Amino acid sequence: MSFAAFFRALALVATLAVSTTPAVHAAASGEGEILEKDIPISVREVAPGLYFQYHHQESNSAFLVTDAGVLVIDTRQHPKRAEELLATIRKITDKPIRWVVNTHAHGDHYFGNSVFKREGAKIIAHVDTAGMMKANFDLEMKRRMGYFKQRGYDPAEVKLTLPDVTFTRRYPLTLGGREIEIFYIGAGQNPGDTFVYFPKERVLFAGGPFSKQSWPNPSFTPSMQGWVEVLRRIAGMDVDQYLGGHGDIGTRQDVLDEARMLSDFDAGMRVAVAKGMSPDDIVKAAPFEKYKDVRNYYRMNLFVASYYHLLTTGKPENPYP
Ligand SMILES: [Zn+2]
Repeated sequence: MSFAAFFRALALVATLAVSTTPAVHAAASGEGEILEKDIPISVREVAPGLYFQYHHQESNSAFLVTDAGVLVIDTRQHPKRAEELLATIRKITDKPIRWVVNTHAHGDHYFGNSVFKREGAKIIAHVDTAGMMKANFDLEMKRRMGYFKQRGYDPAEVKLTLPDVTFTRRYPLTLGGREIEIFYIGAGQNPGDTFVYFPKERVLFAGGPFSKQSWPNPSFTPSMQGWVEVLRRIAGMDVDQYLGGHGDIGTRQDVLDEARMLSDFDAGMRVAVAKGMSPDDIVKAAPFEKYKDVRNYYRMNLFVASYYHLLTTGKPENPYP
C-alpha cells in the first residue's frame, strides 16, 4: 500500500489487547557500572541488503545497501564506534553513504554523526530531535563521560553534528529502488522519536521507544501513556522484525510486552503517588519486582525518581523544550 494509505491505516489501528507474560532474559545488566554478559557485536542481514548491527552493551544501528548508495540508521556513541561501523559497511560495499537517520537525540545514537557527515551523507531527523540535540548536548556529554573513560575515548572528538534535513510527520525516501518510510507518530521515550519503515521487507527500526526486554530510561518522556500508545500502534503494523535502539531483534509480542510493562509501571506509580509514598518508599516496596529479570532493573531507583518527577510536576525530569 502507498505510504499515505499506510499512514491512514496506522492512525486507525485498534489498540491491541496485551495478554501474555513478558519474556525475560537471564543477564540483568546495564551500561557502565554493572558488567554485562559479554555478547559480541553482531551484524545480520535481516532482508536483502538490509543489515542490523546489534551491540548489547551499547546501542544498535542498521544500514541499507543499494546500488545507489547506503542509508545508515543511528551512528553510535562516539566517532571511534562510528568508524568501526563504517569499516563494517565498507566490507560489504564501496557505494557512497547517502543518508543518515538519527532516531532520537540520545548521544549513544548520534555522537558518531561527524564520521558519516565527512563521508558526504545527509543527516535526517525529526525537528524535535534536532532541537533536543542542541538543547541537551551538554547533558548528553555528561551522561556519557563514564563510558568514554571506561573505553579510553576522547570526549573532545565528539562534535555536535546536527541534521541537514528535518521533518515533522513523514519523510518518504527511495534509494536504489528501495522504499524507506521515515515517520513520527508522537513522543514515546522522547519528543521526536522516529521510526524507519521498510514496507516491502516488513522491518521497522524503532530506535527510542522500543528495546527488547529492557527497562528504558523514562526521564525524557512527556507521557508514559502516550509512549504505550505509540508502542501499541507500531505493534499493529505490517512488520515481522522490530529493530530496537537497544537489545536484539524483537517480535510484535516483544513490543506488546514492553507496552504492558510500561503500562504497569505507569499504573503502579500513580497508585503509589496517590497514597503519598515518596520515591524511596516506592523503591523499598518494589512494586515492579515481577519485572526484575528485565535488563536495567537495577536502575529502578532512577526510573522511579524520574517518573515521580513527571507525575508530581507535570514535567519530564529532562524536559524539552
Ligand atoms: Zn540509547
